[in-house]
Amino acid sequence: MECGGQVSEADMLPQRLPTAKKKNCVRCGKAAVLVVQTSAAFCRECFLNYFTHKFRSGLGKTRVVQPGERVLLAFSGGPSSAALLDMVKRGMEEGTQKKRLRIEPGVVFIDEGCIIQGFDVDQRQQALQIVSKIAEDSGFPVYRVMLEDFMSEHSTEADLPVTVSNCAETSQDTTEDVERQVKTLSTDDSSADRLKRLFEQAKSLTAKEDLLQMLRSKLLVKVARMHGYTKVMVGDSGTRLSVRIMADIAQGRGSALPLNTGFADDRHGDVVIVRPMRDFIAKEISMYNTICQLESVFLPTLSTRAAEKASIGHLTEAFISGLQVNFPSTVSTVFRTGAKLCVSQDPENMPEGHERCAMCKAPLDTGQQGPLQSSVYKTSGASEDDNKCVATGPEPSPSLCHGCSLTVADFGDFSALSDQLLHD
Ligand SMILES: [Zn+2]
Ligand SMILES: [Zn+2]
Repeated sequence: MECGGQVSEADMLPQRLPTAKKKNCVRCGKAAVLVVQTSAAFCRECFLNYFTHKFRSGLGKTRVVQPGERVLLAFSGGPSSAALLDMVKRGMEEGTQKKRLRIEPGVVFIDEGCIIQGFDVDQRQQALQIVSKIAEDSGFPVYRVMLEDFMSEHSTEADLPVTVSNCAETSQDTTEDVERQVKTLSTDDSSADRLKRLFEQAKSLTAKEDLLQMLRSKLLVKVARMHGYTKVMVGDSGTRLSVRIMADIAQGRGSALPLNTGFADDRHGDVVIVRPMRDFIAKEISMYNTICQLESVFLPTLSTRAAEKASIGHLTEAFISGLQVNFPSTVSTVFRTGAKLCVSQDPENMPEGHERCAMCKAPLDTGQQGPLQSSVYKTSGASEDDNKCVATGPEPSPSLCHGCSLTVADFGDFSALSDQLLHD
């Protein structure tokens, strides 16, 4: 996915390298029009073949997605998820019957507008319409869901308010649909308000981004369950994931790396999150979108107007994209190193029993009640008596990983969300 993601891939847009003009295509020898990595130059045609092949072989090799499976595509409007949508569409139409991608796709868009400062109802509505239009052009059923729906009492899977379009059984006009959805918000926005307040009370942008990431995955999984999808494909590119690798390590989420950045993330059990775009860097995706004239839209995120050092994620992103300019193999180096780190921490080798974080469902790195974890709770709990944090509920304290316990401590009072967050 890339739903409103933090990595602004605009910063990493490809430049048509002047050197490309002098090079020949590494595949066919014709004049190259673009350079993908440090040395590989391609002509248009060979680049498209290379891109398509890489995508399909990634899916083929891992065999995570089975033929005929219902797969939900997370669409943020951004370049990477736009490419994902297009790859799936082409994969289902092109080639011989045998080689075709045989899945039943749907598209989901999460509107995160309610927590973005200065993003008003009109702008949200406009954004929702643009994104809906691009998503519907795919011809797949499109599900739209608001981030604040996570707060509502309807957040049980049975009746999460999701708007569907492009479906054979619904014939509503999309524009009216979107308008109604956003208007309902502006009149009855108590859940939006509560979520907004919750985000405002966080001390750091890092904690906000961390929580957003979590809410986003949980909502995707919920929508998938509701509509009978067993896989969710997200548009995380190698560039985004390499930022994630470094940011995760910096935030003490190292044990969650295999889940957070691997091809398949099975922490939610019945619904598996798949990252088929992880083998592409942002520059390649951008090239692909330019050649195929794919539309994408940049929506503001939590860190859009933030200073470079505002959060660990934002700083890491600036660091990686800065390095990438002069050292084009930065992303792939970080990415490959991250993949190696994952091997020794294979979640399948984790001991059975009480081993998952109650919030992010990653393998617990703090033990049953690690000294670090309890100290974090004590600090946050003791400082504000009436602001009880999640961990000091009437039930035995749910175990949180190191990363989540830091986030909880930063928010102080998580009670507004704790039920939905801890029992999914
Ligand atoms: Zn060529
Ligand atoms: Zn956690």
